[in-house]
Amino acid sequence: MHKKLIIIGSGPAGYTAALYAARANLEPLLFEGFFSGPAGGQLMTTTEVENYPGFPTGISGPELMDAFRKQCERFGTTLLREDVKSVDLRKRPFTVTAKQTYTADSLIIATGATAKRLEIEGADEKGFWQRGVTACAVCDGAMPIFRNKELYVIGGGDSAVEEAIFLTKYGSKVYMVHRRDELRASKIMAERALKHPKIEILWDSVITKIEGDKVVTSVTVENLKTKKVEKREAAGVFFAIGHKPNTDFLSGQLKTDSQGYLLVKPGTTYTDVEGVFAAGDVQDPVYRQAVSAAGSGCMAAIDCERWLAAQGIE
Ligand code: NAP
Repeated sequence: MHKKLIIIGSGPAGYTAALYAARANLEPLLFEGFFSGPAGGQLMTTTEVENYPGFPTGISGPELMDAFRKQCERFGTTLLREDVKSVDLRKRPFTVTAKQTYTADSLIIATGATAKRLEIEGADEKGFWQRGVTACAVCDGAMPIFRNKELYVIGGGDSAVEEAIFLTKYGSKVYMVHRRDELRASKIMAERALKHPKIEILWDSVITKIEGDKVVTSVTVENLKTKKVEKREAAGVFFAIGHKPNTDFLSGQLKTDSQGYLLVKPGTTYTDVEGVFAAGDVQDPVYRQAVSAAGSGCMAAIDCERWLAAQGIE
């Protein structure tokens, strides 16, 4: 089956690209994923979204993504709840292999990134995931359960520092738990953490257990050097150990940076393969917000529509 445009990925970037492309009569086919995670992407595991413009009293992540989905479907997007196994970008039309094989004149890659998590006792969905344990302080930090409580951020990079500083607005104290005795974060960021009166760094340390009742109430911290183990009061645990862009199915056919994020021509969504565009977190190591992903999805659809028109495909 041949399509003018196939969109891979179903977060804010993919659905927005589909909305614009469908309204431009490109009749896009969008792969929402299946085993790769819930259709709707990372927002499906978020509770309240309070920073998406247009919703002054907030909206739940799944509700927001359901609205995105319905809106792009209304204008003629075909949605398939399947994972793309592989693509062949060596010649046009491109080949996309899912349950069946498709060809497409153009592709928009919007597969997002996955926040890395650790297998700590009590951190998963059977434990306290989204009940005090999260991987996004900006998304979840303002929740009432964290107000004036002791919060723990795992990691020692720029994200960990940024999240810890953000959380000082809400928590009574923020502990950064770092496995080494030196931060990976840039000097300026590291200094901000070290000087902050509400941040304390637990060096050479790991969290080995998270406990609670309905929500998190304590963490067990082990110092890897002294072997001292301590149970401490806690209301929140925030993973900030990096993200992994979801690009395995591309098998290295698109250029990436050293962390694996797709490279786009600055200020556009053009990848290094003509006819292939990238939007959302898969190409964004910096902002990673639903609204910036949606914005770049819109850009990708417009870039793609213009590129197709230049090829005489409308
Ligand atoms: P990162 O720089 O890769 O740092 C990840 C941190 O998590 C490191 O401190 C690492 O420890 C720790 N870590 C990784 N795996 C772990 C594990 N299994 N157990 C315990 N700790 C673990 O990731 P990032 O902080 O998300 O930053 C990613 C990129 O975005 C960087 O280039 C960063 O500069 C950039 N960024 C910039 C800003 C900014 O400038 N405002 C903000 C956010 C991100 P080790 O140090 O021991 O490896």
